[in-house]
Amino acid sequence: MTGQAGEAFDTAELQRLDSAHYLHPFTDHGALRETGARVMVRGEGVYLWDSEGRRVIDGMSGLWCVNAGYGRSAIADAVHRQLLALPFYNSFFNTTNVPAVRLAAKLAGLAPPGFQHAFFTSSGSEANDTAVRMAWRYWQLMGQPQRQAIISRRNAYHGSTIAGASLGGMDAMHAQGALPLPGFHHIGQPSYAEHGRGMSEAEFGLAAARWLEDKILELGPERVAAFIGEPVQGAGGVVIPPATYWPEIQRICDRYGILLVADEVICGFGRLGAWFGCETMGMRPDLIAFAKGVTSGYVPLGGVLAGERVAAALIDKGGDFNHGFTYSGHPAACAAALANLRIMQDERLVERVAKETGPHLKARFGALAAHPLVGHAESIGMAAGLDLVRRKGATLHDGEPFARALAVGMLCRAHMFDNGVIMRAVGDRMIVAPPLSMNCAQIDEMIDRIRYCLDLTLADVG
Ligand code: PLP
Repeated sequence: MTGQAGEAFDTAELQRLDSAHYLHPFTDHGALRETGARVMVRGEGVYLWDSEGRRVIDGMSGLWCVNAGYGRSAIADAVHRQLLALPFYNSFFNTTNVPAVRLAAKLAGLAPPGFQHAFFTSSGSEANDTAVRMAWRYWQLMGQPQRQAIISRRNAYHGSTIAGASLGGMDAMHAQGALPLPGFHHIGQPSYAEHGRGMSEAEFGLAAARWLEDKILELGPERVAAFIGEPVQGAGGVVIPPATYWPEIQRICDRYGILLVADEVICGFGRLGAWFGCETMGMRPDLIAFAKGVTSGYVPLGGVLAGERVAAALIDKGGDFNHGFTYSGHPAACAAALANLRIMQDERLVERVAKETGPHLKARFGALAAHPLVGHAESIGMAAGLDLVRRKGATLHDGEPFARALAVGMLCRAHMFDNGVIMRAVGDRMIVAPPLSMNCAQIDEMIDRIRYCLDLTLADVG
């Protein structure tokens, strides 16, 4: 068998080497040794092929990142040209490079008003670390260095660096080390399904936002630096907050002067039908962390967009900001981003999510709620989630979940994987976030496959 790049390979041999040498992220290697890893070798549009020639429709955009789809030669060509012209030079010591400058200016044009400055990293985790360091530095410069507490939400994912994992609210991550770091605090996530019993969605949105106010008052407003959240929580299970949530969070941050950081690593670059998720959800953040979709994942790149308030302090009062990465503003990564953003604009991908593909996904995915195994199905833009339940309820809050030990979500995910569609399981919540380039006919194909796999899962557990 050969891959697209032309090299010969043997699946069994690759699996043996993989098992012998490769430590994967977030993976139980004991279990992986039993099954062997699936070897992905090629992508085109919204499809992937594995080393055995099996085709799958990618419902997860790789890992929420391949927004423009696979096989974009314009991105590959731009990177190739840049690698030949200047593969690397740093942006420290008063130097810069052409793609980094152009990308910073391009992002200033795409971002919400007031975001005129970009800092570059290589990942979303580094972007969030950078946002924390910017927030701390901002408060120092404002003469309030005691403002160090950072508030985020339980079940949030903000990355795997030590600050990223501290910001995140994942118990399983905290349990494997001395995390979270002191000074990182968490409030509940705005999941109506989980916490909203007895309230309307609008009431719950306000109540969940006020958990932030409670936490600020508990810590002392004069000690709080920033609140960080994803406009719509992605890895937590596509948790779409009620419309009342973010405006109330904004009011609370404004009231206590606290910086608001939008983690747009997933929501940025069109996922919710606007260039940035904060625009869809009614937030006015001070800092925006981004990664993933900025290059459609072709080359690693992340960063932070600094709004006027923070940028003015850092630039006008700050002197050196003692923070940076060798690969900040990497020329090839920035060239990939520029080519990717050009494709997204030429093909009007963001507008199509808002007006065409997002509404189509909503209609087709929402209809899965009629399946006997599905308690609730919802979507926003090109992100969607459904809950697998033993028994449906009359309302969102009185269905009967499966026993955790049955791991029905993992069973369902395995059926998807074996039957040509990639969907992710977060407990018993199944989620998709397909490439923004997926057209309506391909959405139909994805939903038909999902429905078939729900039938297979039902047959297993029914
Ligand atoms: N923030 C969010 C919302 C994410 O979903 C992720 C990754 O999935 C990250 C941060 C971390 O990004 P990276 O894996 O590029 O470090």
